[in-house]
Amino acid sequence: MDEILKAISGDGFVSISVIDSRELTQRARDIHKSTPVVTAALGRTLAAASIIGSTLKKPGASLTVRINGGGPAGSIIVVSDYEGNVRGYAANPLADVPNKSAGKLDVGGVVGNNGMLSVIKDFCEKEPYRGSAELVSGEIAEDFTSYFAVSEQIPSACALGVLVSKDGQVLAAGGYIIQLLPGAPESVVEAVERNVAATGTVTSVLVYGGAEKLLESVMTGFDPALLQRSHVEYRCSCSRERVLSAVSGLDKSELEDIKREGAPVEVSCQFCDSVYAFSPEELELANNGN
Ligand code: ZN
Repeated sequence: MDEILKAISGDGFVSISVIDSRELTQRARDIHKSTPVVTAALGRTLAAASIIGSTLKKPGASLTVRINGGGPAGSIIVVSDYEGNVRGYAANPLADVPNKSAGKLDVGGVVGNNGMLSVIKDFCEKEPYRGSAELVSGEIAEDFTSYFAVSEQIPSACALGVLVSKDGQVLAAGGYIIQLLPGAPESVVEAVERNVAATGTVTSVLVYGGAEKLLESVMTGFDPALLQRSHVEYRCSCSRERVLSAVSGLDKSELEDIKREGAPVEVSCQFCDSVYAFSPEELELANNGN
């Protein structure tokens, strides 16, 4: 079962959120039939968005992350609710690039690093919060670390990983975001850096010990107190109305073709495997004014 653990160090300087997101990443893969490298890119983004989304606290609030690196995967869009339940997609789920050396998936290669990571936090009040930062590598974790530094002025460390078998099974997925509270002394920063280095690849810890073991490893010596443990999952909130409004960009000739055919048109949700059928009349109504 996927979960997020939140903890704070005994001295109060280090807060951490750890996620085990294997099941929701597998669900994303099954919906989108993505290649292993796109599954890894999307899975890392889902993990980070889930952690950040779970900090919004206000019921109804949502978080949207868009990563636009110019690589073959195209834009990656992930939405989280206020509890960390997420959904997402990559524009080109079938994009592929050769592995890096040692059989490592080239996430930066498929995402690209020529663009932005942008975050919208919508608290259902007047204007949503918008932040963004230039991509560093397209490897996602580094890009979120940079986002926190540039856009939110929070020193942080982020590690994300997805382990995918050749046939597309997600063997492990998740990671952590550590944030240093104001006034953290240099010795704390150094200890965090040592722990991060000693922990190594997050998926190899998640595979045998889950989120708990990962938290224990990164917080070694910090006497962490567990603040929260919550279940998260892949969750879509689509409806006929929302999907219909997403197809309101048809041009006149497309509409004419549909009306001539006279048959209902099936439209799938971008985020999940739901399919909705719309009559030509419904589509025409939704496209009025184009
Ligand atoms: Zn959906």
